[in-house]
Amino acid sequence: MSIRDRYAPSPTGLQHIGGIRTALFNYLFARSKNGQFILRLEDTDRLRFEERYVQNLYDTFNWLGIKWDEGPDTGGRCAPYIQSERLDLYKKHAQDLIDSDGGYYCFCSTERLDKIRQDQESARSEGAEQVSQSGYDRFCRGIPAAEAGKRVAAGEPYVIRLKIPLGETTRFYDHLLGHIEWKNEDVNPDPVLLKSDGFPTYHLANIVDDHLMEVTHVMRAQEWLSSTPMHVIMYGNFGWTPPEFCHLPMVMGQDGKKLSKRHGATSIDEFRNNGYLPEALLNYVAFLGASYEEGRDIYTLKELAERFSLDKLNKAPAIFDYKKLEWYNGQYIRMKTDEELAALCLPFAKAAGLFGTGGEGSGSPSPEQMRVFTAAMPLVKERLSFLNEVPQKIAYLFADPEVPPAEEFIPKKLDLARTVDLLKICLDLVQPLADSPSDEAAENFIKAEAEKREVKLGDLMMPLRVAITGSRVSPPLFGSLRILGVARSAERVNRALQKLEGS
Ligand code: GLU
Repeated sequence: MSIRDRYAPSPTGLQHIGGIRTALFNYLFARSKNGQFILRLEDTDRLRFEERYVQNLYDTFNWLGIKWDEGPDTGGRCAPYIQSERLDLYKKHAQDLIDSDGGYYCFCSTERLDKIRQDQESARSEGAEQVSQSGYDRFCRGIPAAEAGKRVAAGEPYVIRLKIPLGETTRFYDHLLGHIEWKNEDVNPDPVLLKSDGFPTYHLANIVDDHLMEVTHVMRAQEWLSSTPMHVIMYGNFGWTPPEFCHLPMVMGQDGKKLSKRHGATSIDEFRNNGYLPEALLNYVAFLGASYEEGRDIYTLKELAERFSLDKLNKAPAIFDYKKLEWYNGQYIRMKTDEELAALCLPFAKAAGLFGTGGEGSGSPSPEQMRVFTAAMPLVKERLSFLNEVPQKIAYLFADPEVPPAEEFIPKKLDLARTVDLLKICLDLVQPLADSPSDEAAENFIKAEAEKREVKLGDLMMPLRVAITGSRVSPPLFGSLRILGVARSAERVNRALQKLEGS
């Protein structure tokens, strides 16, 4: 039988690391077995629904390059399944449960339900020994079917609840956690499946869809584990076979607490805006609770899929390590060609105003600016961790940096007058350096000059670097000189000289 699994997010928040880990594992598992990966939007919670979260889901999948296999408009671009478009199906199935005695109508008013909750809460806070179970008290379960039918026909508002068989134990097998059993008395008593507005609850829609979509494996976050016994009971009441389950351990921060804002970025949008590459994020997330081969870190999506196995999942919570992810990002940045990297960094450079406001305030580069931008990529690539660092790192190639205070120019153990002399030497060297064909040629040249003039190489390089880049710490100097060219470079050295001589 072919594997079918799914990612079933509710559009009530931004896509975050935990969700994407679930999506990725399902995707990889389906691919590893030549199966089908389904995307299903569980949008029946209309109170918490927001359209922007739906858009965020699509944007995230697009950016990550994860494709789902099936949807209502299969052929061309298939849409995911959307639960709010399938309401009749859930209603029909809730009705089926009534007919087969697997569910019942409940007419309890909100006031009554609130009262039950309050009573339970105060009993608990008074420390009562025997607090009756929390949740619904099964009041309407005893209403004879004929009477309930009449009340419904008369227009009385109702919900449909699941009838949980009492005195039994529910068992299921979880791939990661093994055999699990719950006494039915400990399961949330008779949860609502169909609300009074005709909308299904998450539980009903989720189970009906998993069944109708012939989902074979449900892999989801461990926070859903406590709902699973109730789901298994629902499968039983419908007379359906449940899928296989695999509940993934939590993703934690380094401090062992659930990953949250306190630890750093968690939404995929934030990672994207902070200059992470999708390949790096996917590669790292693939390791959050799964292993592949000993001693290897870098994998393509295809390679991960070839190696993914439920048997290699880890029971222990996964610890999110931002440093390791940063390492991945650097690795993937270095795999890019200069042109690819320039294209990836371009939006960040525009947003940072690197090219000025550009035509119609678009911030787009002129052809010459684009040439400089691409030429600058090899200067930054080796040390870059995040794409968004680029504009600040190479700003000096676009606008003349402010000339720093004199102290910045003065090498250790030297004084201002000597530094001025050195910069004057540098002025003579600008042309051959900027025109030299390679870093190696430039380096050999300046070394020979330093020797000839009996100055330390560093004492020559440092003031020149500060004059050209505006800082003691900068991308490689020779490459910068080549990009800026003789005239602009000489002008910067002259400006520095003027400032030093005037101080
Ligand atoms: N809609 C649920 C969620 O938002 C899906 C849980 C499941 O995968 O069954 O996580």
